Amino acid sequence: MKDLLCDHFQETVGELLIRHKSILDVLSKLDEASARVHRSTIKAVTQCGCLKIDAKKPTIPEDATLWQLKEIFNSHLKGELCSNCKDTIEKEMGRLLFYLAALCNHLDINLYDVFIKEQKTLDTLNYFNFT
Ligand SMILES: [Zn+2]
Repeated sequence: MKDLLCDHFQETVGELLIRHKSILDVLSKLDEASARVHRSTIKAVTQCGCLKIDAKKPTIPEDATLWQLKEIFNSHLKGELCSNCKDTIEKEMGRLLFYLAALCNHLDINLYDVFIKEQKTLDTLNYFNFT
């Protein structure tokens, strides 16, 4: 069973993508969109200040259990996104999804199938998938 929302999104992208239809444009716009997600996240720290980054090298005991590792490794983020930053980041993520769907269209890949395959991989690997 296909996901209707995901398929509809991918079809809409296909209908709207006119100006940047070349695979070269899609690939470069996908990279640009990714960079804009990064940039808007960084701006939440450096311009707005609703988020802070507090990072240092973790100390990992040799006999640390998996559950202890989950406590040791963290996002290094402090605070919460304000509504303005959240809105901006969501818009940039939307553009990222747009160009990912466009790439899927060009390569005849169903975006929902990508989600399903990745979910199956995660389910199979479970905690052995340390990324
Ligand atoms: Zn903010």
